[in-house]
Amino acid sequence: MATVESVAASSTHSAEDVKHSEKETNKRKIPRDVEMDIEYLYEVVPQLSRVFRITDKIGEGTFSSVYLGEAQKSDGTREKFALKHLIPTSHPVRIAAELQCLTVAGGKENVMGVTYCFRKDHHVVIVMPYVEHQAFVDIVETLSFEEARQYMYHLLKALKHIHEFGIIHRDIKPTNFLYNRREKKYALVDFGLAQGTPDTHIELLKVVKSQKAQKDSHGKQALVPLPPNTRSCTPHSSTKAAVKRPSPQSRTKHTKELMGLCKTPRSVFGERNLNSITPQTDQTQGHGIKPTKTDDIIARKFVSTKRRPLPARALGPTSQKTKPVAFNPSLTCNCYMTDRVCNICLSRKQQVAPRAGTPGFRAPEVLTKCPDQGTAIDMWSAGVILLSLLSGRYPFFKANDDLMALTQIMTIRGSRETIQAAKKFGKAVVCSRELPRLDLRILCETLRGVRPCGDDSLPLEFRSSRHPADGKKAPPSGRAEKLSSADTRDATELHVMGWDRVPDEVYDLLDKLLDLNPETRITAAAALQHPVFKDIRD
Ligand code: ADP
Ligand code: MG
Ligand code: ZN
Repeated sequence: MATVESVAASSTHSAEDVKHSEKETNKRKIPRDVEMDIEYLYEVVPQLSRVFRITDKIGEGTFSSVYLGEAQKSDGTREKFALKHLIPTSHPVRIAAELQCLTVAGGKENVMGVTYCFRKDHHVVIVMPYVEHQAFVDIVETLSFEEARQYMYHLLKALKHIHEFGIIHRDIKPTNFLYNRREKKYALVDFGLAQGTPDTHIELLKVVKSQKAQKDSHGKQALVPLPPNTRSCTPHSSTKAAVKRPSPQSRTKHTKELMGLCKTPRSVFGERNLNSITPQTDQTQGHGIKPTKTDDIIARKFVSTKRRPLPARALGPTSQKTKPVAFNPSLTCNCYMTDRVCNICLSRKQQVAPRAGTPGFRAPEVLTKCPDQGTAIDMWSAGVILLSLLSGRYPFFKANDDLMALTQIMTIRGSRETIQAAKKFGKAVVCSRELPRLDLRILCETLRGVRPCGDDSLPLEFRSSRHPADGKKAPPSGRAEKLSSADTRDATELHVMGWDRVPDEVYDLLDKLLDLNPETRITAAAALQHPVFKDIRD
């Protein structure tokens, strides 16, 4: 790929030129709000206009907006780039750590690299090669088994690579793993939440780690310390008058992610909440009453739920130190198994553990705020992706909070198993009713429509769900209806796509990725050696 220097050298247009030519040649309909965002970006980081013609916005999340930019190379050809504009309030160390992940580990093994970085004042734009991709939600139902297998292989390859660098990505999900179906290209992006293992190769992740307790990430920063091998382009002066940010109302809010969430019918779980579980906070130390967000939710449910099977409450886990020894929460307070929260529990100190990421992809140890989290959390998320690939449903787990997410996990993996695993990593989970562990093959094949939906071994909620491709309305929830074989998806199509003969080893891999216990969960390196990928490796 051409370096940006060569691109920049051949590029002479000013910001005005850019806007002009955009209006001239670009008759594509860019919504007014996107246009305004692009103008704003040119204004806050003016040096961008010397290199790029920004033509569209391709992503918008909580921490960034991503734009499509074109640069002209010296030979006259154009090259596309993704320009990630980080929110100006991001902590400089956080930004620098994200960049360092890209520069040190990126650019190979299906991990996104970085071409350039621009900064003006507190505005940082990371420039990456553009990988054209389709939204996962749009293709998940149409993928063949072979495509799904290749997808997993390439995701695992990326994970193995970053894990070797001691990077825990922490936000593994399809929107962060770009897939170009046509060109068979894959790219893991978004190190915005990454953390380091104790022996990480990424120097700045060590800093991130030591700073994570530090609350304010909104400090005014003077300088962003860029990783040594990143070429930075900082303007000499910043005399331009303060640029007004477009009002929030005029801003776009159409991330692929949000769009994905709007496509409700494909999700396996709705917003229903069995309200039956409790990840528990630290019981070893007693004081300090500031409740966490989760505790808040727990508390609210606690007062508002009328008929609750067993209230979700915050009480104590065994800490890492006191771990599985003499584990019995009822000994430490007097509200255990009652529907009240006692004063001892109310005064428990909140456990500080990273909980970043997206609820539906969070591992059990993340959901229960286990302080000791490693690369295994990414493997769990990869398991959730495989679950989506096999079932054709995305998002598979759709949860607004951690309690709901944990309940949904228990619905699939079994409550007893979850409780047992949690105990191993020092957490007490309470579930009011026993949820049996499901057979993963039966679950996925039913959801995909390979088998009739009336399989007796599945709980009612899964039996009554039908594949959206049927185009028929699902029966009211809770009502199980035996469906005839005519309701299964077109058998020929499923056969052509290979979904009627998924080998057993695939479900073995899924089981090992969705291991509730992070200690025994399969690693990326081991997963790549799994029989599922035998012929790809050779
Ligand atoms: P955020 O931290 O806001 O989630 P990401 O780095 O995940 O930011 O980027 C958001 C979205 O922008 C991605 O889901 C993807 O659709 C798009 N995107 C990011 N990087 C690239 C890239 N290099 N090429 C193409 N699209 C990209
Ligand atoms: Mg992202
Ligand atoms: Zn109590």
